[in-house]
Amino acid sequence: MPNPSVSCKHEGCEKPSDGGKGYCARHYAAWKRGRLPKARYKSCRIEGCRKPVTGRGRCAEHFARDYPGKQAAATGETPTPAPAT
Ligand SMILES: [Zn+2]
Ligand SMILES: [Zn+2]
Repeated sequence: MPNPSVSCKHEGCEKPSDGGKGYCARHYAAWKRGRLPKARYKSCRIEGCRKPVTGRGRCAEHFARDYPGKQAAATGETPTPAPAT
């Protein structure tokens, strides 16, 4: 979810990050075109999700959602939410 109280993560830009991926609309458009330097890790392609990619451009969570039954790259890490007590 874009958080309007946080400014665009592009250095020097103070516009609200309402464009997506933590950028303002303008920088997000540039990011989508590959005009911005790549992030430290590729983030999930699902809008609003910034988790690292595990497979098919998606994070583990979205990969599981979009490709049920398939295995992403074997990381050995399956984030399991702790059961509420
Ligand atoms: Zn910006
Ligand atoms: Zn995701």
